[in-house]
Amino acid sequence: MGRLAERLTLLSIHQDDGAETLGIRTPQGIVDVRSAASHFSLSAPQSLESMLREGRGPELEALMHRALAAGDASLFRHEASIRHGRLFTRPEKIVCVGLNYRRHAAEVGAQPPRVPPLFSKFANALAPHGGTVVLPPPEIATQFDYETELVAVIGRPARNVSEHDALAHVAGYCVGHDFSARDLQMELPSGQWLVGKSLDGFAPVGPYFVSADLVGDPDRLAISTRVNGELRQSSNTSDFIFPMAQLVAYISRYWTLMPGDLIFTGTPEGVILGYPEEQRHWLKAGDEIVSSIEKLGDLRFRLC
Ligand code: MN
Repeated sequence: MGRLAERLTLLSIHQDDGAETLGIRTPQGIVDVRSAASHFSLSAPQSLESMLREGRGPELEALMHRALAAGDASLFRHEASIRHGRLFTRPEKIVCVGLNYRRHAAEVGAQPPRVPPLFSKFANALAPHGGTVVLPPPEIATQFDYETELVAVIGRPARNVSEHDALAHVAGYCVGHDFSARDLQMELPSGQWLVGKSLDGFAPVGPYFVSADLVGDPDRLAISTRVNGELRQSSNTSDFIFPMAQLVAYISRYWTLMPGDLIFTGTPEGVILGYPEEQRHWLKAGDEIVSSIEKLGDLRFRLC
């Protein structure tokens, strides 16, 4: 088994030519992988998906050490000057968990489920940090709601893995958002989740991919959401109904999880859907949403 990437915090750079390529976050600034690899004539993966599928994390680690050792400021970019691209563009699978926090299940009047309720998003939903989510017109949907979620990124194929081995298949974590149109999600009595949760741009992920070794225990991370600066969700993954290892093991019973696959692990309490009906003021164009998870950063996007 190849070694997974370690000690890496990565972002996606939306280049002027339209390419979405990797950046490595260091204390000295962001190493632009494309230009640094060419500068040092080193081989390096240009996307996170290539890194994960081809096991090329060590090449990025080597490039980072080379850039840091060179002590040449021109090799580093200021993070504030970077337009973020999508961290992921073509995962084979995006598996989402419907209800996975005890207090969220309670606020929407649901019993904690016996097994993780699963649904999926398509890759069209993936969106970058710092971008805008274009809302569909009112004749399509009006009840927009936030769901900040911890996203696990698979690093090696996982088929029928035990809970004990499950986390060894996770390469790292990101902040993600399961943006939702509740009127579409609940258009049918049995639910219409795929429609309500997978419109174009309904899955922003970022700003960083953080390798698992830097995150430690995924079941003990503070998680929060702000809307226009107001705190709306504030919880901790310790409220998970199914801890991360159980989720990966359970999902791997049914599908082979592949490098680059994403697992959205559910959202904590505080969503608009959980408010009494007369107090539900749905999100609207112009709103700015910030999703934060301890050790993973702040994912920011605006609605238009
Ligand atoms: Mn969700």
